[in-house]
Amino acid sequence: MNKNKKYIVTAAFPYTNGNLHIGHVAGVFLPADIYSRYLRSINKKLIFISGSDEHGASILIKSIKENISPRKIINKYHKNIKEDLKILKISIDNYYRTSDKLHHKYSKKVFSKLYKKNFFEEKTTYQYYDKKYKLYLADRFVIGICPNCNYKFSYSDQCEKCGNILNVGDLINPKSILTNNTPILKKTINLFISFKSKKEMIYKILKYFKKKKINNKIIKIIYNFIKTGLQDRSITRDLEWGIKLPNIKKEYKFKVLYVWFEAILGYITSTIDWANKNKKKWQSYWKNKRTKLINFIGKDNIIFHSIFFPIIIKNYNKKYIIPYYINSNEFLNLEGKKISTSKNWAIFIKTFFKYFPNLIDSLRYSLIMDMPINKDSNFTWEKFKFYHNSELIGILANFFNRVIVLIHKFCNGYIPNKILLKKKDKLILNKIYKYPKKIGNLIYTYDFRKALYKYINLARIGNKYLSKNSPWTINDVIKRNTILYVSSQIIGYISHLSYIFIPYTTKKFLKILNIKLLKIIKLKKNVLSFNHKINKPKIIFRKLTNEEINYQKKILNKLKI
Ligand SMILES: [Zn+2]
Repeated sequence: MNKNKKYIVTAAFPYTNGNLHIGHVAGVFLPADIYSRYLRSINKKLIFISGSDEHGASILIKSIKENISPRKIINKYHKNIKEDLKILKISIDNYYRTSDKLHHKYSKKVFSKLYKKNFFEEKTTYQYYDKKYKLYLADRFVIGICPNCNYKFSYSDQCEKCGNILNVGDLINPKSILTNNTPILKKTINLFISFKSKKEMIYKILKYFKKKKINNKIIKIIYNFIKTGLQDRSITRDLEWGIKLPNIKKEYKFKVLYVWFEAILGYITSTIDWANKNKKKWQSYWKNKRTKLINFIGKDNIIFHSIFFPIIIKNYNKKYIIPYYINSNEFLNLEGKKISTSKNWAIFIKTFFKYFPNLIDSLRYSLIMDMPINKDSNFTWEKFKFYHNSELIGILANFFNRVIVLIHKFCNGYIPNKILLKKKDKLILNKIYKYPKKIGNLIYTYDFRKALYKYINLARIGNKYLSKNSPWTINDVIKRNTILYVSSQIIGYISHLSYIFIPYTTKKFLKILNIKLLKIIKLKKNVLSFNHKINKPKIIFRKLTNEEINYQKKILNKLKI
């Protein structure tokens, strides 16, 4: 087995019942992307894995409501989401789908082995049932009041507000979302994981996360899970859409695996799929103690990653690794309100791209600056305009362009060579050389917003340095060249480091500078060498107008345009 340290970075699988919106991006895909981009650029061995979650009640609900087959729905949205991730330049190595044969086969294998080990408990329970549709109403088909926090629109399997897992019958005043009637309770049998009997293992997992001292949020959720009594959890469902159970008993003929039981195995099957396509060994990632598994997820899914997954996979085969760190972001709101696909209160990537095909980096920038890291955050069109006009143009592109223009004016477009570095210049350069490490440390501790802030600070330092030394007022060639040389080194660093955050802009920077991208680990002194010829300045970002922003606000509020 390979002894080198490896990383598996995962982004939570989105449900394929709708298009990708800015909430998914800020919560999961962007942080995972920045993390992966940085790690690759310092030569770490890493795979970045994700895929579509194509089973579960939410897809079936959409299919019933819109009278289309679930297959058509997943095919449409899987394709759309994949396209959107490409547009956003999310650097995923394998974007998979859980409807794939390999995933079905693997999930059944895990289930069968656990079933044979008597890992599950069979229980007769009552299930919500909609008489009109003759359908057992699993999970998201039933909405009611959460008994833990009184949230009015809690799902029957989990409250989105407090994160608690619920069982059938827990909801107060349950309603079928298909008919809005109160569903009846009908008898059925299902298989359960008895967490009470896995108590020892749960405490072991808790200790494991505690030892790392970085998973505070997770520890809180696990404590809460223990405190609320380690409720049994059914892992089979009376549904027609999903992974059919292997042939164990006739009573299970029309049941499927609970979506969380199998979707979470998608991280593994996505890796196997990637390995098959690239002739690699997936075991060297998943069955390697030196691999760090880093999950990027939304806050409502912590328990599935921190408890369900480790318990399932370790009981299946001890050799598998469990998460090293679970990065769970809070929620991103939009103009002060909760993002909702069904209420059409969202900015979809497809729509954004339609209006602003050349401003993807500005969206990435805004979403990193407003990433919901420790608390819910808010995206507004006004802030988007501010980030674009005042920071990306006003600070970043402004400094870059100033330097390019000056080098053309005073040095004919060549990086100056007749220079004499004084103490103040050396100080600035030494400060700049430390930035890759500083930014890296922030990314390592998952503080992506501060990392971006640090990055933009490079341009702030540059602007200040340039204004203070005003090379355009200096007649002494060596003195003037020295200032331009120092400034050129700063734009060199700015260009290479931009790759972690704003990759479309990187291309533009590099083209003007007439250089190729370097990995961060290779960044050193003289990133632009003496006498190197650079190209003419070009506009990097166009300005956003008030009209454009007002137009978007009107679209969002469905006002007449
Ligand atoms: Zn609740």
